[in-house]
Amino acid sequence: MPRKAHKPESPLPALARDLTVSKVRLAAVLAAGRARIYADIQRRAARNPAFAANGSARERVLAGIGSHYDKMAVELDQWSEELAARVGGNFFNRAKADTHTADAATRYNREYAERYLRMVHEENAPSLAAVRSQQMRANDMQALRSTVINVLNEAAVTGMTAKQVRREMLLRMDSMVVDGLPSWQFLDDTGRKWESGNYFDMLTRTLTSNVARAAYTDAMAADGFDLASIEGGGDPCPACTAWRGVIVSLSGANKDYPSLDDAKADGVFHPSCCCEPRYVDEEVDKEQIAAQAELEPPESPEDGAPDWREYAKQVRESKSEREYDPVAEVPEAMEEPAGVKDVELKSDASATREQLAPRGEE
Ligand SMILES: [Zn+2]
Repeated sequence: MPRKAHKPESPLPALARDLTVSKVRLAAVLAAGRARIYADIQRRAARNPAFAANGSARERVLAGIGSHYDKMAVELDQWSEELAARVGGNFFNRAKADTHTADAATRYNREYAERYLRMVHEENAPSLAAVRSQQMRANDMQALRSTVINVLNEAAVTGMTAKQVRREMLLRMDSMVVDGLPSWQFLDDTGRKWESGNYFDMLTRTLTSNVARAAYTDAMAADGFDLASIEGGGDPCPACTAWRGVIVSLSGANKDYPSLDDAKADGVFHPSCCCEPRYVDEEVDKEQIAAQAELEPPESPEDGAPDWREYAKQVRESKSEREYDPVAEVPEAMEEPAGVKDVELKSDASATREQLAPRGEE
């Protein structure tokens, strides 16, 4: 394979692509969950005469609607497991390709896969997505309950008949579905677009990027590579922008460079960030590596951290001016990129293991 010169500050389409896949699949889970919930509000509430008349019947109906949030929580866990398997495998193999070590004995294996799975879904702990779906359930149930209570209060004042109460309740349930329940305002009616910066958007960005970065640096470390540069992904953030192109030592063992932890302490790779470390090649990138090694690292003051931000600025100034193409943005409208191998979501643990099996780069 011919060696390509390392290009700092270039767009990072691989992460953008995986991010889009993660988003599209999550939005599909959410849209399907919402559809089930809305259908049930209309069906169970609208078709059940006891709903308006009888408090315990109403609670049964609400419990039935609420059970869809539990089902959705399970699907959200499956989504995060698929994310870990897909992104972990892709980025591990991407590092193997970048470092030209595809033939080395080190391979993506089950231990790595399980590590990435734990990153998105810790054992014995509810996942972030599942916790969120329970919050949504609580909010939506509260909204449904207060609609019911409002109608009953109005009925007490105006003396509506039972039939009128029922009719009024059903009308209001219907309009709640049409206007959307409070928890679902971030997702558009088609389920193909969501408000940027919503909880699930941030979760997708953070999980996808964290797994990608971990898998990439694990693969580098496995083959004994330690130097990587910080590269900006979509939606540049101030800290990563300041560090863009700066070489770091992943392990911190090479004292000529800041460690990855130094960069992180300065704000690089914060939650929701889509920036990446990328392998720098001792041969191809030797000028850049040598130039940065000449810079003095900042002194460690007695209190507080060394001023790595100023150091990063010097690194950037010492380099020749380069055109920075501010990166492939993740499109707002979500469409799964063509040619993505579909991973079927399965619920049983053995299927997850199967999905976690090593896969080649797509
Ligand atoms: Zn960033």
